Amino acid sequence: MKQEFDVVVVGSGAGAMLTAIKAHDEGLSVVVLEKSEQYGGTSAISGGGIWIPLNDQVNDDREAALTYMRAAAQGQVDDKRLVAYVDTAAEMVRYMTSATRVRYAACHRYPDYYPALPGARDGGRTMDPELFDGALLGDELARLRTPSPATLLMGKVSMTARDAHKMLAKEKGWKLIFAKLMLRFMLDWRWRKKTGRRTDRRLALGNALVAGLRHGLMTRNIPLCLNTALQSLVYDGQRVTGVVAGQDGKLVEFAARRAVVLAAGGFERNQALRDQYLPQPNSAQWGVTPPNNTGDTLVAAQALGAQTDLMGWAWWVPTVAVPKEDSQRGLFAERSLPGCIAVDGTGQRFVDEAKPYLEFVTAMYARHRENGRCVPAWLIFDADFRHKYPMGPLMPGQVAPDSRLRKSWLNIVYWKADTLESLAAQIGVDAKGLTATVAQVNEDAASGVDRDYGKGSNVFDRYYGDVNVKPNPCLAPVAKGPFYAMKLDAGDIGTKGGLLTNEDAQVLHQSGAPIAGLYAIGNTSASVMGPSYPGAGSTLGPALTFGYRAALHIARAP
Ligand code: FAD
Repeated sequence: MKQEFDVVVVGSGAGAMLTAIKAHDEGLSVVVLEKSEQYGGTSAISGGGIWIPLNDQVNDDREAALTYMRAAAQGQVDDKRLVAYVDTAAEMVRYMTSATRVRYAACHRYPDYYPALPGARDGGRTMDPELFDGALLGDELARLRTPSPATLLMGKVSMTARDAHKMLAKEKGWKLIFAKLMLRFMLDWRWRKKTGRRTDRRLALGNALVAGLRHGLMTRNIPLCLNTALQSLVYDGQRVTGVVAGQDGKLVEFAARRAVVLAAGGFERNQALRDQYLPQPNSAQWGVTPPNNTGDTLVAAQALGAQTDLMGWAWWVPTVAVPKEDSQRGLFAERSLPGCIAVDGTGQRFVDEAKPYLEFVTAMYARHRENGRCVPAWLIFDADFRHKYPMGPLMPGQVAPDSRLRKSWLNIVYWKADTLESLAAQIGVDAKGLTATVAQVNEDAASGVDRDYGKGSNVFDRYYGDVNVKPNPCLAPVAKGPFYAMKLDAGDIGTKGGLLTNEDAQVLHQSGAPIAGLYAIGNTSASVMGPSYPGAGSTLGPALTFGYRAALHIARAP
């Protein structure tokens, strides 16, 4: 059986869906193919943040944005792609918000991740989705990939990233925000009773983005085929003319008159590809992503001679394993809070704990290469920290004391002991090293200056610190027993390397020329950010922007 469209989009993450919507609005017929029984991929469980230089809600400067991206990319990305990103990202947001019900607000105080680089801003380039009413999706809501309970208040109530930040940092008014969110949720009990859903009707973060885009597909009658997995590309010797996909146990051909857009995520869930490309040790089990991104489209394009780049990189994040959960929990923000430190097996620190997640895991690997004792690493905190702050799956002790935690979590999710020495013995960390490290950290907490790694010394570190802690919102002593430890794996939220593309998302052949009819976006393509993570939203911003550019290029090609 063969079906024919102008454009075949493979994958149903945010970039894929926006590509389909834009291609449709340019007058093309489109189909979206999705391997899983749910749509949305990692995009749906993400924070939904997008990093948009020059967006309409900030007073940004083009040269500053380009200078910053160039510095972050470290000469590893073709300048035409960087320029294309800076010049199109805001236009893409304007289009998305006019063509769909997705809405974004700039996070005015969320700084770029590398404040020391030229052109960095203290806030405004990261944008956060507004809440989306899931009821607008009708029955399709049930097929939207569900977010991790970690992103919902009490595992049920949706919140924007801006509200989550105010509550985490305990900013003035945070209790009122908490109360309003809870009240809104409680008053909506009728809808939950009618639909049988336990969680909030209002969707937030990546769920809001993907739901808004799914709504855009629905209003345009763009078909989305679930349980349909690309197996190979059809190539007539000159151009890609379609894909062969497995569907209901049969092979089906989707012919593409104009183009195939590969938007099927990275290869993070394929251990063989990880072993071939990523640093060791690594594991597909340490990641935070759903199970379907196994690099199928990467391999299919490589079979046609496609070039790849940045294959040794992932969007790293330290993660914690939680029993009975399909993927691990990422520690994105809590490491900045005062009174926690990260150590290797010798009990020594190896990084400013508040650094961006990619840099944190990069530092884990760097230390591991030196002494073989930093993957896994250990996070250490004390009773005060445990009482006041969340850490991964542990809500603050004042809300969820140890007595209310699942018994099975002890010695798996967290370790606990009355003294640092016995904690060190339990987790196999050198006790002398750990006590010496803690002694220095406690001295530094009093002065507010982290002599070794500068935790809290820049605007990004302080964003997730506790504003009430002085003189440094990211430093406090680790002094009061019992003491706690958490095991940190070198996890990821997707891989960063993939098919090398040009500024219009065309896949490049090893000869350097574009492969006619073949485009790649999102984590299927090598990131426009090079080996860096310039700010929150550095993966979804480009996935959407290059999807938008791909659709325009396909529509305008002769
Ligand atoms: P995905 O969104 O994963 O979509 C790929 C889709 O392709 C999947 O649905 C998959 O099932 C499908 N697929 C795979 N193989 C096939 C096949 N053979 N045939 C058909 N379909 C296939 N990034 C940001 O920029 N901002 C954030 O705020 C942010 N927060 C995050 C928070 C968390 C907890 C996590 C886990 C990630 C976060 N990320 C964030 C990262 C971001 O979500 C991903 O990098 C991004 O979603 C990748 O988009 P994608 O379209 O490449 O892949």
